[in-house]
Amino acid sequence: MENPLTPEVLADPVALTRALVDIESVSLNEKAIADCVEEVLRAVPHLSTYRHGNTVMARTDLGRGSRVVLAGHLDTVPLNNNFPSTMRGDLMYGCGTSDMKSGVAFALHLAVTLAEPRHDVTYFFYEAEEIESRYNGLTLVSAAHPEWLQADFALLLEPTHGVVEAGCQGTMRATVVTTGVRAHSARSWHGVNAVHAAGDVLRRLAEYQARRVTIDGCEYREGMNAVRIHGGVAGNVVPDRCEIEVNYRFAPDRTPAEAEAHLREVLAGYELAVTDCAPGALPGLDAAPAREFLATVGAAPIGKLGWTDVARFAALGIPALNFGPGDPNLAHHPDEHVEIGKIREGAAILHRWLANV
Ligand SMILES: [Zn+2]
Repeated sequence: MENPLTPEVLADPVALTRALVDIESVSLNEKAIADCVEEVLRAVPHLSTYRHGNTVMARTDLGRGSRVVLAGHLDTVPLNNNFPSTMRGDLMYGCGTSDMKSGVAFALHLAVTLAEPRHDVTYFFYEAEEIESRYNGLTLVSAAHPEWLQADFALLLEPTHGVVEAGCQGTMRATVVTTGVRAHSARSWHGVNAVHAAGDVLRRLAEYQARRVTIDGCEYREGMNAVRIHGGVAGNVVPDRCEIEVNYRFAPDRTPAEAEAHLREVLAGYELAVTDCAPGALPGLDAAPAREFLATVGAAPIGKLGWTDVARFAALGIPALNFGPGDPNLAHHPDEHVEIGKIREGAAILHRWLANV
């Protein structure tokens, strides 16, 4: 395949977004796009380029006093009759337009065109963000080459619709089990119905008043929801077991242990097992490169509600923010699209921030 990421395409963040969208890269199928990105970066004299699996890292080594990370994932959620891209007026439609090839285009455009950024920059184009954490390119890199992640500040180019979203909420999944006694439904009084018992769990979740909390001027809004329910034996049996999967999104002032304690308090009296958890990240607005970046954007940050890889950097003690042109409400949506104006605006902001030596 000819590499569609030609010099003319790389020079224009809009054309570059479209070219990236048109290389299919559903999670675990990132080889083709990673090959194209790697080939482009290896040809750039001011970058050293490395690859681990289908994650490509390129960095400047100009001896600046500080280093920033610009990171974007190459994968998308499964296609949904939205590939390849199409244009409608000022909007580009297609899988990955918002989440997050428009953000990837920012990083790749800057990597190629900005030979002398004011901070040394490490660019990450990584695989498998949209699926389980064990496949995530940054998880793999943090195990194999932790030194690649070292920086003073990280910017994740996830969709934020052109505003800065700070930190992120944590997420925890747990399974709550209700139990009963099986019986023939013709003589149901001999049994105890576990599906009926789930009603009390669902009522507690429905009535739960989720907390809102403001940290460093950013509001986070929690949520605790039943996301799946499973129970029943047969059409004539009183069921003896029901499982309710609960997803708790918690503000970054709670640790995972505190979040679990709160979940257990809300669902006290029930058997509960935590199956998955990712901690949140505090806003991290104090680092000098972060303050500088916020000044360039010129608008106050807001809290990030979804979980993103900023939490991974926060866990390493590296302050991190989210900033990208896509609308987060359209991520994973069949009508996913990005506004051309937001791509141009965002690319100009990043350029002003990093080119201003
Ligand atoms: Zn994303």
